[in-house]
Amino acid sequence: MAFVDLHSHSTASDGTDRPGDVVRLAKASGLSAVALTDHDTVGGIAEASQVAREVGIDFLPGIEISCSYPRPGTMHILGYGIDPESPKLTTVLAELIRARNERNDRIIAALNAKGIPITLEQVRAIATRGDPRNENVTVGRPHIAKVLQMLGVVSNNAQAFRDYLGGNGLVYADKERLTNREAIDLIHSAGGIACLAHAYQLQKENWAQLRNEIKQLKSLGLDAIEVIHSDHREALVAELTDIARRCDLLCTGGSDYHGSNKKHIRLGVVRNGRRVPRGWYERIVDRLAGKR
Ligand code: AMP
Ligand code: ZN
Ligand code: FE
Ligand code: FE
Repeated sequence: MAFVDLHSHSTASDGTDRPGDVVRLAKASGLSAVALTDHDTVGGIAEASQVAREVGIDFLPGIEISCSYPRPGTMHILGYGIDPESPKLTTVLAELIRARNERNDRIIAALNAKGIPITLEQVRAIATRGDPRNENVTVGRPHIAKVLQMLGVVSNNAQAFRDYLGGNGLVYADKERLTNREAIDLIHSAGGIACLAHAYQLQKENWAQLRNEIKQLKSLGLDAIEVIHSDHREALVAELTDIARRCDLLCTGGSDYHGSNKKHIRLGVVRNGRRVPRGWYERIVDRLAGKR
């Protein structure tokens, strides 16, 4: 049986492997298809698709967009099969990056005000990994968390988020985000299909609330939900499988690979050794073909 991974990050956002290296690793891991889904950027897609052709593996261009959602939950929408050159997408992503940079500035200023001598240059150096090819990386909180560790302010990433950067942290700063409707429409306008990522992060209190939120998203045009994910327990996988069937949504799955930034995650393998069947990838490709 062939397997795929439809959720991964590269140095274009907060992963540690070059886009091409994510694809090479997917091939070396025996996967038959991989999607690159960097946060708020399509900057890694050209390199990844080029390498996919070279090594002979199916490649699905993707993106992961953060939507406005009540804290401490988060809502991320994945877009698959988007045209990275879509003018609308390009314009909106530039705006999201501007909002992100402005938020990074605010976080750094707040840390400085607390006597922590962190600089934007340090954060950017972590994000670009000293490689000029990574100049356009999406800089985010995981990079700030790394610098806080280097400075000895915290001892690990989890503590950086708990004490400083996370929803309940000392210097939490929000950024302008798209609404879920805007994210779904944007993905559709770029020719892609929209998928709810890692539903556990919605932090719903019960299955009924989760089902209602997903039904609402379906009414806005959502096409798919990420059923299998590294942080989804078996009970959640079962529930999401049922919701997908009832709501007529496609199923997707992925590891949310971030390279050495999330050491417990392996490309192509999620919790309990579960894997994502190639059939799920094929149904997405069929749906995309039907749209053209
Ligand atoms: P940003 O894009 O700057 O909002 O950062 C989002 C990234 O931060 C996500 O991809 C997660 O990997 C990471 N992150 C968010 N919350 C936490 C947390 N509580 N603990 C560890 N990592 C987190
Ligand atoms: Zn990430
Ligand atoms: Fe996410
Ligand atoms: Fe992700």
